[in-house]
Amino acid sequence: MLKVLLASRNAGKLREFSALLPDLHFVPWPADAPELPETGAFFQDNALQKAEGAQAWWHEHGTEPVDGVLADDSGLCVDALWGGPGVLSARFATDLPEYRAKNRRLLAMLPAGADRSARFVCVLAYVPLTGEPFTVSGAVEGSLAFDPRGESGFGYDPIFIPDGHQQTFGELPIELKHTLSHRSRACQALRSRLEAVGGALSPATSG
Ligand code: IMP
Repeated sequence: MLKVLLASRNAGKLREFSALLPDLHFVPWPADAPELPETGAFFQDNALQKAEGAQAWWHEHGTEPVDGVLADDSGLCVDALWGGPGVLSARFATDLPEYRAKNRRLLAMLPAGADRSARFVCVLAYVPLTGEPFTVSGAVEGSLAFDPRGESGFGYDPIFIPDGHQQTFGELPIELKHTLSHRSRACQALRSRLEAVGGALSPATSG
């Protein structure tokens, strides 16, 4: 089984990657490892920055060999907020510890009658043990609910209604989110790339 270091401490992301890519063994980013900088203007820059930063740190401090490093940069882009919070999704309303309150603040920023169109975007960067780093991406179109609804998923899931549905990602079964989410689409592209580079799904490390 390919062993992949996941350059993220986000428990929601780890849960989703483990479900979406069950044939990969994920090593979580250690609690005592440094915060990975994400200073880029685009999801792609940040994903690469995190994957390469994690790979460099692991090279010095890693406790076990891995076949590659995976980083996810993702976020919610709201048309009426000029694409925001976008790459700043993880840093939106940092004075509020709970996503329920962050979600309410975000909804309150939309003027009455505003276009509620939004999309979730996910860019994955993968740094293999040998070979060139690459990125893949996925997106899901939808709209913002008027109030947070549902407890499933994480982050902005309770305010996002994917096109073709009436319920938010917070209300829909997680299995359904996994068939149409930005992350599941990016994971499909990642799987194709790993398969295309010839045997990359076979581990180079032992165990
Ligand atoms: P980053 O990729 O670490 O910069 O953080 C992305 C942030 O976007 C997360 O902390 C969430 O707030 C949000 N986000 C990304 N993907 C999802 C998702 O699938 N559901 C809900 N929120 C998400």
